[in-house]
Amino acid sequence: MESTLVILKPSTIQRALVGQVIDRFQKKGLIIAGIKMMQLSEDILREHYAHLVERPFFPGLLESMRATPVIVMCIKGKDAVEVVRGMTGATNGRKALPGTIRGDFSMSGQENIIHASDSVESAAVELARFFSEGEIFDYVPALMRSMYASDEI
Ligand code: UDP
Ligand code: MG
Repeated sequence: MESTLVILKPSTIQRALVGQVIDRFQKKGLIIAGIKMMQLSEDILREHYAHLVERPFFPGLLESMRATPVIVMCIKGKDAVEVVRGMTGATNGRKALPGTIRGDFSMSGQENIIHASDSVESAAVELARFFSEGEIFDYVPALMRSMYASDEI
């Protein structure tokens, strides 16, 4: 089983879409292995978005990501990184396909509802950045056998 990091961004909190977004992951059969609310600091965002710090839109992104607390989640499942990225959709909400989270809930390149890790390697780094030991739980949902074939898990 793979784990990936999802962040429900401030626009999702402001627009009261938290329940609808989490509902999609649960209905898909993904497991919530960790979840908490936190106020992101400038330091953690500079680290998390290190690939973007030189871009002209970075100050705006920083402000947007600090507008309210966010909800960080560890989501678990077979091939979870790829599955969650697929559910997330393209970065710009106007380009993201209908049926994806960004495609259905966003009209913006910045205010695009969630962050999702883009590779297994970055998921491991990002989960360690936002969660401490003891905040991610290893449990097996009772319905696991109805969600996967026995050779898939
Ligand atoms: N972003 C933006 N303008 C851009 C590109 C990115 O405001 O032209 C923001 C947007 O919120 C995006 C985040 O920066 O989700 C991280 O960008 P990345 O390229 O990593 O996209 P993602 O992995 O989130 O799809
Ligand atoms: Mg990214």
